[in-house]
Amino acid sequence: MTSAGPKCVLVKGDRARAKDLKELVSSLSEDESTTLLQHDMEAVMAALESGEAERAIVLDAGAVAQLPELLDDPRFRSLRVPMLALENGADGVPAPERAAAASLVDEDKDPVTGLPSRGPFLRMLQAALDRAENDTSYRFALLLLDLDRFKMVNESLGHELGDELLAEIAARLRGRLRSRDAIARLSGDEFSVIIEGVGEADEAMNVTERLHEALGEPFVVSRQEIFTAGSIGIALSQGRYSRAEPMLRDAETAMYRAKSRGAVCEVFAPEMRSRAFEALRLETDLRHALERGEFVLRYQPIVNLRTGQPLGFEALLRWEHPIRGTVSPATFIPLAEETGLIVPIGRWVVEEACRQLGQWRRGDPAAHELFVAVNLSRLQIREIGLAAEVEQALGSSGVPASKLKLEITESMLMQDSEETAATLHRLRELGVGMSLDDFGTGYSSLSCLHRIPIETLKIDRSFVSNIDQDRDSTEIVDTIVTLANRLGKRVIAEGIETTEQLDHLIDLGCWLGQGFLFAAPLAPEEAIRLGERARRRELEEAPAVL
Ligand code: C2E
Ligand code: MG
Ligand code: MG
Repeated sequence: MTSAGPKCVLVKGDRARAKDLKELVSSLSEDESTTLLQHDMEAVMAALESGEAERAIVLDAGAVAQLPELLDDPRFRSLRVPMLALENGADGVPAPERAAAASLVDEDKDPVTGLPSRGPFLRMLQAALDRAENDTSYRFALLLLDLDRFKMVNESLGHELGDELLAEIAARLRGRLRSRDAIARLSGDEFSVIIEGVGEADEAMNVTERLHEALGEPFVVSRQEIFTAGSIGIALSQGRYSRAEPMLRDAETAMYRAKSRGAVCEVFAPEMRSRAFEALRLETDLRHALERGEFVLRYQPIVNLRTGQPLGFEALLRWEHPIRGTVSPATFIPLAEETGLIVPIGRWVVEEACRQLGQWRRGDPAAHELFVAVNLSRLQIREIGLAAEVEQALGSSGVPASKLKLEITESMLMQDSEETAATLHRLRELGVGMSLDDFGTGYSSLSCLHRIPIETLKIDRSFVSNIDQDRDSTEIVDTIVTLANRLGKRVIAEGIETTEQLDHLIDLGCWLGQGFLFAAPLAPEEAIRLGERARRRELEEAPAVL
């Protein structure tokens, strides 16, 4: 076939459903290809529209370059007829990886950026790998780009502007690539690119530089200037892979490595695999942990600072891993949030904490005074069903709503979405108490304290641990206590470890707290025993006090 302008084979009947495109093209008789060959893309559209052809195969690089435009043509979208592009390689062998790119119908496209989504991209990648297997001279590089801090942009600007920004980013990246290269949006803030004909690391780095530069200039969304950056992981085909997913995973591993080093990009090397596998294994294990019953709650007493008497407990999550032992929430909660697993895990925490308090209440009337505090994740308070789940947990455990306190952080309030505000108000209506955890470390504006029904401020441990050494911390604690008193809110000091800190807090008018000085987070039976001991002591000491 000679190449004089865009060329297209129009396919009818059974052949239109052929799977193997290479075979299909080579099976076309000389006659057939001449009759069906078209140079005029308008005529191709007309043939598809009229049903004369059921499918079109583009055979020329020039025409392939026109495809992105064509895909945006509303006529093409309404056709929903797969159009396949088989760009002719120098040796006349069609490049089947281009095929999937142009065969996109609407549901394969990411509606925000118009780029292919994960599914079609994996098919393109697989086609490129299949080609590389048959043709050892064919090489390509796979790039995975993850935007930095995009979640924060989304949370502060709102999703609509976030989407606008993504569309701008996609257009800018596309503009820095050659038409032969494929780009897709894989997930929220992740883009992936196939760079054709690149076999060496330094060539791939050059492209990466170009993309990085493209992101370096500010974006203007709704008249706001936004600066963004990203980290890029590179995997080179070089005959190493036969399947798309492992190659993408290696590019992802390299991307994470780049991110952790604060580098623009990293090329995948096999040594990176072990660490990546470790993280992957942790994620897989976490997915199973709930069904295997590997989570437990520990209870840290929240005490009256003058008497040491526990008034309630903060429920703190632990993962009893069969091999790793006890895993701290600092290790697995970020992962659980990233994967969305925090939502079912958090649901379990609420249920289990209520169930435990219900059991204590049934065993001892004195436990009726105790409350239990549960930490919520930012993902949970966005869930519409949260209030109903809490109501259900209270109902089945028999715990009154006033004995459950939910701890949220300031950054959650800054999400400021309507769902969040509605959920918090529904919880308040139930009669559940709300506490602001780690107070003083976030960025909440004081107006939040009015808008959101918060009854308790928890002073972050960082201020408490410095209270006896550093004037600033003392001032901050003093200010928080005064603020809370003025607003009619309770204050709980976190992380009290020494008697000096305790004395200071009492001097500043803080009456409630928790910390290792009183007790670490305890197993349920130890926690309740400690409560009983403290009560007995109080009874014994009572006459003396009176
Ligand atoms: P947090 O809610 O601020 O919990 C207090 C943390 O301080 C706990 O760490 C507790 O063990 C620790 N702590 C208490 N007293 C002292 C002290 O005197 N000295 C020191 N150095 N530390 C003290 P933990 O249990 O490791 O939990 C860490 C964080 O993980 C929690 O901070 C909370 O943000 C999160 N977390 C724990 N359980 C859950 C949960 O069920 N759901 C969610 N979403 N997050 C949880
Ligand atoms: Mg807490
Ligand atoms: Mg805290």
